[in-house]
Amino acid sequence: MSPDFLPFTRPDIDEDTIAAVGEVLRSGWITTGPQARAFEAELSAWCGGREVRVFNSGTAALEIALRLARVGPGDEVITTPLSWVATANVILAVGARPVFVDIDPVTRNIDLDRVEAAITSATRAIIPVDLAGLPVDRNRLESIARQYRLRVVEDACQAFGTTWQGRRIGAAGDFTCFSFHANKNITSTEGGAIVLPADASPEETERWRLQGVLRSGEDQIDVEFVGEKANLTDVAACIGRHQLKRLDAFTERRRTLARHYFSSLASTALPDRFEQPVADFVQSNWHMFQCVLPASARRPDFIRAMREQGIGIGVHYPAIHLFTLYRKLGFGEGQFPHAERIGRGIVTLPLFPRMTEADVERVCAALPRAIEEASR
Ligand SMILES: *Cc1c(COP(=O)(O)O)cnc(C)c1O
Repeated sequence: MSPDFLPFTRPDIDEDTIAAVGEVLRSGWITTGPQARAFEAELSAWCGGREVRVFNSGTAALEIALRLARVGPGDEVITTPLSWVATANVILAVGARPVFVDIDPVTRNIDLDRVEAAITSATRAIIPVDLAGLPVDRNRLESIARQYRLRVVEDACQAFGTTWQGRRIGAAGDFTCFSFHANKNITSTEGGAIVLPADASPEETERWRLQGVLRSGEDQIDVEFVGEKANLTDVAACIGRHQLKRLDAFTERRRTLARHYFSSLASTALPDRFEQPVADFVQSNWHMFQCVLPASARRPDFIRAMREQGIGIGVHYPAIHLFTLYRKLGFGEGQFPHAERIGRGIVTLPLFPRMTEADVERVCAALPRAIEEASR
């Protein structure tokens, strides 16, 4: 790929981080140890002192949070059909049944007005997703959860650095799960975390993280259930710790670039049906800048046309219920029309902290021709 190709995202790892990773590698302790514990302490401080445990992925964090919430066979879990497939896969992984509720086409997040109609006597939990970092209404969510006695496992994998009414996501609520995958706003290469509610046991969380093992005394080990193998290495935790220090700067830069997208798009000749995201510069962490193509534009052709102009486009995400696995469970076309339409037309434009304003302008300048070519 040419050196001036603009990818849709790119992690920003500085030289301090690379040097610190070298020290961890030389230290003689490279898997879970002091770095992972320090990362947990720093994340906990960042979340207002709530207990935090780290994992080797956001997916493992979500699955273990469901287990800690006592979700299992026979239970239903309400979630959105417009997310990364991990959100729904973890429900199946614990033996429960996903119940999708269509999205609000403006926010592209689960439509909380439709949640109550989906609640049955088997509903045990709800997994809201803050798509692209735009927060789901936490007040409405809490009031629904309280009224129907549901657990909430927040899939905040895209929302690290997002706030809700001035409070950080993760600083309040039930279970909050983050991901530190390479493409997220801060990364540990791969990684994740759960912020635990007061009624969840950190010790039980650690057992779920590592084979169900409980250690005591100098040499005692006991195992009462099959846990996962989901611990975070110190090499990864060291990267995450250095990224955490830069979070505010990253978020600020993403917001600035998002603003620049809106002003550049305003002076770009685009079809009416080209949908832009909600312009929230206060709460969203701008994990992604996503637009929806008009129905007349074929997305593969659009992606190709942008690539030919040196620009990478992401697709996040096709509707989950239309994947073969979910069709086999009885889901299908026509059930969640907003998620289906947006899942077919959504495109992620480049947005990452190292981008320049000129890059944003280059993307906007390339759009009209690519949409035109994709619509011919
Ligand atoms: C990234 C992501 C996950 C999974 O995180 P991993 O660290 O990749 O396992 C889950 N849900 C959403 C919404 C995500 O964006």
